[in-house]
Amino acid sequence: MVVNRGIRFIDDVRENIRLEIFRKLPPEAGVTRIEFEGPEVVVYVRNVSFIIENEESLKSLAKAIKKRVVVRVDESRRLSETEARRVILSKVKHLVESDSDIVFDEVLGEVVIKTANPQAFMEGDRKLFKEIFAETGWRPKIIRKPPLKSTILESELNYIIRQSPIRLSFLRAVGERIHREVLFKDNYVRITALGGFMEVGRSAILVETAESKILLDFGLNPGSSTLKNFAPRVDAVGLKPEEIDAVVVTHAHLDHVGLVPYLFKYGYEGPVYMTQATRDLMVLLEKDLIELTRREGRSLPFEPKHVQEALLHTITLRYGEVTDITPDTRLTLYNAGHILGSAIVHLHIGNGLHNIVYTGDFKYDKTLLLDKAHNKFPRVDTLIIEGTYGNTEQPSREASAERLVEIIKSTIESGGKVLIPSLAVGRSQEVLVVIANAMKQGKLPSVPVYIDGMINEVTAIHTAYPELLSKELRDSIYSSENPFFYDSFEVVAGSTTRYEIVESKDPCIILATSGMLNGGPAVEYFRMMAPNPQNTLIFVNYQVEGTLGRKVRDGVKEVHVLVGDKIEVVKVAMKVYSIEGFSGHSDRNQVLKYLRDIETKPKRIVLNHGEPSALESLKNTILRKGKELGLGHSIEVYVPRVLDSLALTTA
Ligand SMILES: [Zn+2]
Ligand SMILES: [Zn+2]
Repeated sequence: MVVNRGIRFIDDVRENIRLEIFRKLPPEAGVTRIEFEGPEVVVYVRNVSFIIENEESLKSLAKAIKKRVVVRVDESRRLSETEARRVILSKVKHLVESDSDIVFDEVLGEVVIKTANPQAFMEGDRKLFKEIFAETGWRPKIIRKPPLKSTILESELNYIIRQSPIRLSFLRAVGERIHREVLFKDNYVRITALGGFMEVGRSAILVETAESKILLDFGLNPGSSTLKNFAPRVDAVGLKPEEIDAVVVTHAHLDHVGLVPYLFKYGYEGPVYMTQATRDLMVLLEKDLIELTRREGRSLPFEPKHVQEALLHTITLRYGEVTDITPDTRLTLYNAGHILGSAIVHLHIGNGLHNIVYTGDFKYDKTLLLDKAHNKFPRVDTLIIEGTYGNTEQPSREASAERLVEIIKSTIESGGKVLIPSLAVGRSQEVLVVIANAMKQGKLPSVPVYIDGMINEVTAIHTAYPELLSKELRDSIYSSENPFFYDSFEVVAGSTTRYEIVESKDPCIILATSGMLNGGPAVEYFRMMAPNPQNTLIFVNYQVEGTLGRKVRDGVKEVHVLVGDKIEVVKVAMKVYSIEGFSGHSDRNQVLKYLRDIETKPKRIVLNHGEPSALESLKNTILRKGKELGLGHSIEVYVPRVLDSLALTTA
């Protein structure tokens, strides 16, 4: 929000917090200064040992001021980098691969340590972590080095450290904006549908109070050909980028995060909140999107530098971490079970005035990759929930996995090759686990499995976050196994290899992006493999109207494929199957089950992310079954259109 801010008010809030900290921490701690960096309050001290030994006092301090408190050591008390490196290496030589796994961030006073074994730093009441901190004065930041190397993760981390001074001044600006007096005493809360209502694509919701303007998601519409339907309708509501206080992103799919860089192009300079895994996947998917669009001779409304800006302005949060994002709003993210890092958003507005839960895309069932979505919240007044499959039921995952193995097996036995076009995030990894398990158990012969496109980078990011995965996968990563891998898996490098793979006589399985055959290596394989009736194509995700994948799935026997600038006619003689049960969305029954299980019960339900028929049908079912679901008879169910606004409190 833009106001002529009274300096006195702003200083009051921050000054009070500063005084409270000085009062609560004894002089032995040697507090030198207190800074507000993003949502965190950073206390610089001279005597870090004192703080480490008196951890409890710090915890009670954080509780008392209801803030996230971080301690850093005053520059004057940090060892030189060379000295600190020597001390750290003497302790962790067995835990790092090389010197370059230890990187110093001078601006923040942190030392990033990349290791395959982060647990080692946390064992015995974080003994190793504390020792390094106390002896060097550099705050350790332990990062998991995934068993699979991810070039994106590496370059991202280096970029953020290089830009540390800019990042620090950004965090301080955000810190000032969050920690100021509430200026208005007007208690309204309103949501406006900017995209992804009565449709799938370009998800965006504006949440407004007198104090704050917060955007939940800012995606693009992959199926749209006109600019008007491509982006959320910020233009129509006259929302200016500099008026936005915060952007919150639920997950890394482009229909939720795709146009965040566009906000930066038009002058947004504020924070974007998401989980760390979402941040990594966002960078990867945006870069891939830019590359694909460039190759197809189309253009995007932003450039690569705006993706970097978005990355630099991202503040990552863990599930369950309560964070002030504006003077009157607290944000908490919870597991959504949809893809790696996906989150359900909980907003606590105005000290108990109103609570919003926005599910984003969510799966209320355990999958091979993730646990089911979180369902317990301290308070819920308005629930915004997706209804993509509001009128359908999906086959079970076990049955779908069996069917996938069956189809692959019969193709291989008759000497054919299998092509699985696959979304890079989520579905690919799940299919890899199914295939790896089937091969380990002898249910599938160990033929080569070629992995092409972005899938491998995304899989690497999955192995960097075992704590977010299901227990089975997590355990195998902790025991240094890679559950997404089997001996016969091979990553494809270069397009000549693609030709050789298809030309060879031996049966094989190919997993390639994109999942709807709208670009990517999957299309190249498809062109070469389609005319041979021995081959099989298996779709494992939804095919959007208008894509090549949809045409092939619907049984078209001759399709046109763009090769360079020529159109090629491709005859489809290969067998085509579609397996629906791998979806990352909740089907109708899972949505209803979620409403029955959710604690606490909402007073109002808003449906989004679905075609009109799916949402209308879901609305009627909820109203009909309201009592059974324990929703109470005054429950309100809304199906807004894009540009509708809804007042959530009486103004
Ligand atoms: Zn999604
Ligand atoms: Zn979505």
